[in-house]
Amino acid sequence: MAETAALFGKKVLVPKEPKYLGCDLADSITVDDVIAWKRKNERGLVVSYVNTSADVKAVSDYVCTSANCLEVVKALPDVPILLVPDLNLGEYVKLLSGRDIVTWKGTCRVHAGITKDKVLAVSSRYPGAELLIHPECPAARELFGASGVRVASTQGMVKIATSSPSRDFVVATEVGMVDRLKREVPGKNFIPVSEEGVCPFMKLISLDDILASIEGGFYEISLPLGVAERARRAIVRTFELLGIEVRA
Ligand code: SF4
Repeated sequence: MAETAALFGKKVLVPKEPKYLGCDLADSITVDDVIAWKRKNERGLVVSYVNTSADVKAVSDYVCTSANCLEVVKALPDVPILLVPDLNLGEYVKLLSGRDIVTWKGTCRVHAGITKDKVLAVSSRYPGAELLIHPECPAARELFGASGVRVASTQGMVKIATSSPSRDFVVATEVGMVDRLKREVPGKNFIPVSEEGVCPFMKLISLDDILASIEGGFYEISLPLGVAERARRAIVRTFELLGIEVRA
């Protein structure tokens, strides 16, 4: 995420040396993996989830978020698509789009454990609650079409909870998101599917680390020019595909 912000000319600081700031999901796909698939699928297009390295974005054709992944895939021509790196997001989008998608086998250790059985076990204790499920969870496709289920990105969950008449929501995603929902949508109840759904990578950074980084001006993200240019082009191409104006 920090690299993506840096692609657009911002000075971006991260509170720990970048080499220590990975994540299982982002690390599950490499540049060589993407290039090998492209060699075998010359007409194919590669769509990278935003949670990938700048190097992987630089060899991709498009870059999506969990909010717009389905829209991006639907807008592409009828050619084979490699969607990386999240298996569950890929399978969910494949189900909804009906497109010829090859999904990579990476998973997020937090979301991959949130299955239909876990969601139903919690929601059965809160009859009438709406279910908000992040598409990186297998439960998103396992409960596809079920009554009261809304599959949404992080930002999408805030929007749904704000506009819905429901008061109670069972939330299937990283547990920190539940705190954000409580903060941004006061007066409603948010119940996490799993209190153990804590991302160890996000929790690597403390408030003290952030203060030290701001005061010390470290560590600044810096990317090779060629990588930054190609990764930026993949993102801009995605905006153009979706008809979103790109301001210089
Ligand atoms: S929740 Fe953690 S492990 Fe999962 S994708 Fe986000 S940063 Fe990676």
